[in-house]
Amino acid sequence: MPMPDCPTDFALPASDALPASLEGVAGWDLHMHSRASDGALTPTDLVDLCHARGLTRIALTDHDTLDGVTEARERCAALGLQLIPAAELSCQWRGIGIHIVALLPQGVSAGLNAGLLQLAEARTARSREIAHRLEKIGLDDGLARARREAGSERPLGRPDFAAALVTAGLVPDRKTAFKRYLGAGKRGDVKTHWPALESVVGWIRDAGGVAVVAHPLRYGMTRRKRDLLFSAFIAAGGEAAELVSGYQNPELTRDLSRQLAFHGLYGSLGSDFHYPGGALAPGTLTPPPRSHVVPIWRHPALGPLIAGASAAIGQASIAPRLHHERS
Ligand code: AMP
Ligand code: MN
Ligand code: MN
Ligand code: MN
Repeated sequence: MPMPDCPTDFALPASDALPASLEGVAGWDLHMHSRASDGALTPTDLVDLCHARGLTRIALTDHDTLDGVTEARERCAALGLQLIPAAELSCQWRGIGIHIVALLPQGVSAGLNAGLLQLAEARTARSREIAHRLEKIGLDDGLARARREAGSERPLGRPDFAAALVTAGLVPDRKTAFKRYLGAGKRGDVKTHWPALESVVGWIRDAGGVAVVAHPLRYGMTRRKRDLLFSAFIAAGGEAAELVSGYQNPELTRDLSRQLAFHGLYGSLGSDFHYPGGALAPGTLTPPPRSHVVPIWRHPALGPLIAGASAAIGQASIAPRLHHERS
């Protein structure tokens, strides 16, 4: 379909109409990371890899930042991929760290930008606290070590501390670092700085975006607890959840599809890709099962843009983060 408004000569092939259901969908990945957070690739290299793998519609969902989106958008425009401006925002609910993917077809509002600043500050304060806690197990100067592992000035995350623990010889590998010290409930799993679920969902709504519960099966929750999470999320204005995140047990995925349909949540999907060479690549995920879950692209805020009826998705303003302290 020709798109005269588009900044490039990009046009969707006629055969690339939006699928009616999540089942059988191909070419989509709405959850991936770049060097703007804890991913290994630059946004440009990530988009190149997506293109090489035949993806057509993607979201870059770095942790608590849209810093990589402008670069990714330029590369997507050059290659004819559609990019939904996005981020994966950290929050807490009932003492559990929860990730909410913000799909932001209209970009960042003033309210959301204030939220992103708060998240950046929370991440900085939290990394100090994590470093402090890891001193007790023998990691001296953890902040500087994690900073060296990050290799840039971006806000630090737990993977940087995991790498620091490995380099310091305190654990054999990153997996063990999470298992012993950084994973859910361990001493380095600091959640207290994160805003409440309700705040984060509110910021996303303020920006005209769609809030998506990321990887609902990865919080170690019972189905009942997940019901409570979804209810709280919906009460706050949330509208979607990831039906599939990377590789998922098909049985649990079918059950999750029933749960999403019951709550009337739109279904999204993504690999949660971080780095090449692992089990995941852009676009690799367990095939979504047949279900009554309504695909995320049917959401009124996203559908027309993804379908190419407007060029606005390519022009949404991505407000720069005004500052963040070196952590
Ligand atoms: P943070 O945003 O700083 O809390 O770090 C969370 C990130 O750590 C996740 O997005 C993953 O990239 C990584 N992560 C979380 N749990 C594990 C784990 N068990 N093993 C390896 N990486 C993990
Ligand atoms: Mn991550
Ligand atoms: Mn996550
Ligand atoms: Mn992620």
